[in-house]
Amino acid sequence: KSREILKIQEEMETSALNYPKYFNIAIKEARGSTIIDVDDNVYIDWFAGVAVINLGHRNPEIVNALKDQIEKFWHYMEIPSEIRVDFLKEIRETFNFDSKILFTTTGADAVEASVKIARWNTGKRFILSFDNAYHGITAGTLGFTTLPSAKKFQPYYDNNVISVPYPYEYRCPFKDCLNEVLSLVEYEVKTHEIAGILVEPVQGEGGYIVPPKGFLKGLREIADKYNSLLIVDEIQSGVGRTGKMWAYELEGIVPDIVTVAKGIGEGIPISLVAYRKDLDKLPQAFHLGTYRGNPLGLAVGKATIDYIKKYDILNRVVSLGEYAKRKFSEIMEDNYRGSFDVRGLGFMIGIEFSDEKKNPMSEFVTKMIRNMLKEGVIMYKAGIYNNVLRFMAPLTIPRELLSRGLEIFEKALKE
Ligand code: PMP
Repeated sequence: KSREILKIQEEMETSALNYPKYFNIAIKEARGSTIIDVDDNVYIDWFAGVAVINLGHRNPEIVNALKDQIEKFWHYMEIPSEIRVDFLKEIRETFNFDSKILFTTTGADAVEASVKIARWNTGKRFILSFDNAYHGITAGTLGFTTLPSAKKFQPYYDNNVISVPYPYEYRCPFKDCLNEVLSLVEYEVKTHEIAGILVEPVQGEGGYIVPPKGFLKGLREIADKYNSLLIVDEIQSGVGRTGKMWAYELEGIVPDIVTVAKGIGEGIPISLVAYRKDLDKLPQAFHLGTYRGNPLGLAVGKATIDYIKKYDILNRVVSLGEYAKRKFSEIMEDNYRGSFDVRGLGFMIGIEFSDEKKNPMSEFVTKMIRNMLKEGVIMYKAGIYNNVLRFMAPLTIPRELLSRGLEIFEKALKE
């Protein structure tokens, strides 16, 4: 049945789809950390719809929040409501700076707004981005997304972008990766009119790359020194995924601007930009959009923050994340002969596969995705060479499903 549905979909929908090329299933239903397909196969979800379903599919407390809101109203642009101010109050408390919030609809939309805010406030033009970054793929964000797969769109880029290497220690061409990257950043920020340094605190699509300690601190210092703004893109790393509400907290820095999407709406399209209050000199209708601050998204966002606090999700992510990372390392050591790197924070774990000479093993990873799916786990890849498997299960995954998934990972690897 899955194949039939997929075939019909392919006939009608754009050829530009990505995920069905890897997951040839049609979904009937999803519950907690599992997906059930139309043929009644059950899969463990280690994908969470690209790190979106952080609290599990149809989490009862999220369902209740949605039901409550749907009984009231579900669209009215920016007109005030209780749910709007309740959510604003709660989200602002999660940031370590006095913030103003601008609602957007998608991740890319939030990034576009954040860059506009930086340019507007500084009067500067350029944005500093990093190699292998992913910040969206809309016309406005293409230039910041430096992954090789976006290079084909170069003619349409926002050209006011300068990119420098991200401190990717496993493949770093420099001896002292952190300090050489920081000195490149400093050179560019000193030389050009950089409105903002746009950075993922852990690179997501680029391959779940955790930068060395001191990276964000270094960027903070450079931004301050040259009157540039630090824009932290928490779209993938935020909402508890790394074991902190926001990954930037791990470095103890205070950002100027933060972008938030994915997990805050649990799949309901809502996103936002939080920025320092003193940057709030924006003119009326600075960044409009019909659906911004959708009440269903606000209700889910509020329930999500409440849930994370109520069930101590952050500590769970730290301890289970450490367990998972250790198990991945052990399984790789016992079963994989090439060079590999297991890295990550919390439930944002990447496993990079290479041969003995560190050549990327991307086909191997594609096979792993297929084997895992066949055995009942949905897992996806990342990285500039498509050779990184990433673990991004819901933060609420039961321990038994995590262990079962690890057994399947080992089996798939052996195969
Ligand atoms: N920034 C980061 C760090 C992301 O991971 C993504 C999505 N993968 C985006 C921006 C873009 O978000 P969206 O797909 O909602 O436009």
